[in-house]
Amino acid sequence: MAHDAPQATGPSKLVIRNIGLVLSGALEKPILDADTIVAENGKITGIGRAKDVNSERATTIVDALGTTVAPGLIDSHVHPVAGDWTPRQNQINWIDSYLHGGVTTMISAGEVHMPGRPRDVVGLKAMAVFAQRAFWTLRPGGVKVHAGAPVIECEMVEEDFKEMAAAGVKLLGEVGLGGVKDGPTARKMVGWARKYGIQSTIHTGGPSIPGSGLIDKDVVLEADTDVVGHINGGHTALPDDQIRCICEGCKRGLELVHNGNERSALYTLRTAREMGDLARIILGTDAPAGSGVQPLGILRMISMLSSLGEVPAEIAFCFATGNTARMRALDCGLVEIGRAADFVIMDKAQHSPAKTLLDSVRLGDLPGVGMTIIDGIVRTQRSRNTPPATKVPEIVGH
Ligand SMILES: [Zn+2]
Repeated sequence: MAHDAPQATGPSKLVIRNIGLVLSGALEKPILDADTIVAENGKITGIGRAKDVNSERATTIVDALGTTVAPGLIDSHVHPVAGDWTPRQNQINWIDSYLHGGVTTMISAGEVHMPGRPRDVVGLKAMAVFAQRAFWTLRPGGVKVHAGAPVIECEMVEEDFKEMAAAGVKLLGEVGLGGVKDGPTARKMVGWARKYGIQSTIHTGGPSIPGSGLIDKDVVLEADTDVVGHINGGHTALPDDQIRCICEGCKRGLELVHNGNERSALYTLRTAREMGDLARIILGTDAPAGSGVQPLGILRMISMLSSLGEVPAEIAFCFATGNTARMRALDCGLVEIGRAADFVIMDKAQHSPAKTLLDSVRLGDLPGVGMTIIDGIVRTQRSRNTPPATKVPEIVGH
């Protein structure tokens, strides 16, 4: 069912009206003065007050009924394997379940749970190209899965990175999950990857499962990946002084994951805030993993960081949207003209003591998801996974 998600066939025009609150995803202006969003052929073409935008000849009209629209959430750290099945916990439809948690884009940090994963250079390159192709063709529920993230091994040479990049590979899996665990080798290969336009991330902290190893601050700083993958550990975190060294010792992305150490996530958040570096904070779940699959993991991180980390909820949403999109050069993640029309529409959960959605998140509650939209197409309505939203948007016209 989820495997034949509708793609736009002809010209389409989506109008979302009666929006109570628009979250932009942009740290510098997280709330927009708008009650209407228009998207044509999957891209945002209008944002503003109803009288100021052109909503004529809509093919789909959504009445938001005063609820909140945000960019679709981005999970910066997942481990997909084969379609919407994960062998790690032998679960199917996990990606579709994430969509019900508001996630519309996922970034692979390596297809490491593939049974029999090849570790020879020819095999790992082939698997990277295969995973990139397979997940670009298959969009479970419409979710965009950026996959094909090889785990580097010591035998690789520069030509391998050039060849993978030419074949469409744009990501490295977590450095440290394969044979390369030392700073100098990692730095050399991350440099090759960067030279050919391949983004990189690293496994930070203690081993995640038997067979993986410790990556400490010295290796992280020397490797100089674009993203410091799960700086709060996956699950075992580095000591606070090492986390601080990493925050201060580079300007790379600081990724906080659900399947990590929550106290260390809060420590990293406070450190980044002191440094005026909140733009470096991005969120992931690091699932599927030993801790399972968390369809609401990104919403839970937003709520945890906002409530315990004392960050306004509208800022915490930026960590999972605009920050990630900018860092990873994605065309989604911001409510901005020309961006992909990927949205999550939410309201405060029923019986939350808060007055508004933002207050409810600040109090530590999860929002209720009422609708998801990808490329201007409505993908889900009332979430089967979040607490029920007080109000849910309605499709009122085609
Ligand atoms: Zn990891």
